[in-house]
Amino acid sequence: MDYEKHFADSLDALRNEGRYRVFADLERHRGAFPRARRHHSGDGPSDVTVWCSNDYLGMGQNPKVIAAMHEAIDKCGAGAGGTRNISGTNHYHVELERSLADLHGKPSALLFTSGYVSNWAALGTLAGKLPDCAVFSDAMNHASMIEGIRHSRAERHIFAHNDPEDLDRRLAAVDPDRPKLVAFESVYSMDGDIAPIAEICDVAEKHGAMTYLDEVHAVGLYGPRGGGIAEREGLMDRLTVIEGTLGKAFGVVGGYIAASTALCDFVRSFASGFIFTTALPPAVAAGARASIEHLKTSSAEREAHQAVVAKVRARLKAIGIPLMDNPSHIVPVMVNDAAKCKWISDLLLDQYGIYVQPINYPTVAKGTERLRITPSPVHTDADIEHLCHALSELWSQCALARTRAAA
Ligand SMILES: *Cc1c(COP(=O)(O)O)cnc(C)c1O
Repeated sequence: MDYEKHFADSLDALRNEGRYRVFADLERHRGAFPRARRHHSGDGPSDVTVWCSNDYLGMGQNPKVIAAMHEAIDKCGAGAGGTRNISGTNHYHVELERSLADLHGKPSALLFTSGYVSNWAALGTLAGKLPDCAVFSDAMNHASMIEGIRHSRAERHIFAHNDPEDLDRRLAAVDPDRPKLVAFESVYSMDGDIAPIAEICDVAEKHGAMTYLDEVHAVGLYGPRGGGIAEREGLMDRLTVIEGTLGKAFGVVGGYIAASTALCDFVRSFASGFIFTTALPPAVAAGARASIEHLKTSSAEREAHQAVVAKVRARLKAIGIPLMDNPSHIVPVMVNDAAKCKWISDLLLDQYGIYVQPINYPTVAKGTERLRITPSPVHTDADIEHLCHALSELWSQCALARTRAAA
């Protein structure tokens, strides 16, 4: 076989479908984020304003986080030096797990190298090792949950998105004596909608099912201590497992689950994706812990975040840019056309120094292509005005429809 030809042909097919991904080559500026330097060969500005980061609160440049990381590097050196089992468990990991358990009001927590790995490993192990387990997965679940469930080889039932009644029907159709696991998210990252957690827990409880909630886009951002939507709604104790990331609002990298001591110990003891991989660097654990602890007592970032989100929405609505309405911090600007979405994103970057990655199929359904804007407390009023001005110009150039508010 001509291997190289196969690779090249497959990439050409992606390009022809408009699905080939091009990365922006950025250098984030500490202390000046959302400003970043863009390395590129073409014309156009090399200083850009990032409007699509998941570092939602700017914690990636928080002085306490950076100081904690420096201190840990100076104390312990660069890497962990092994898997958690073989010499890689550093005191920083232990402290971080305590911090996470406390954040979610659970007896225990377990760290992974990313949120993706935590979903893949925890769901794969729970669903795979509970005898004859049936998994009930929300139709819009993230790829990491889907892959974990697939890896478990457990029987999988997909319930309609955020629909407790459909979940109830599907649970009722399975033998009541079988172990069951309901997997869903709190804030869905592309539409920014929020699950009816209490109703889903009611249904799961009625059928004796465990619940597994991905709070990746909510931890740090919601709840009085940043515990997520379940904390805000007083529901943390109703969930069997809460999963989160250290890479989005907490601004560092890593993933985790928080649950009972026996459940965490079970995953620790049986999950290949936990056992056979080098532990996170101690400095990462130190930075994440500093971020979490800071956000447990400071709501200033959360409040400023919500205020900027509201301002961005209001300004975009005032000029008739169509948004998908939702109750979260994610602002989907709907273009609904793959080519135009990519075109607008390119021009925003090349002409206006505004970076918003286009979101196309397969991340979202065809015909719902969008610019996923993620405001943060570090965006200024001038940044917002510049964004609105640029979008307004491009909307006209593209002859895209506006909502009535503009008229
Ligand atoms: C980003 C994401 C993850 C993965 O988290 P990482 O820490 O980035 O690996 C998991 N679940 C959802 C819903 C996500 O959006």
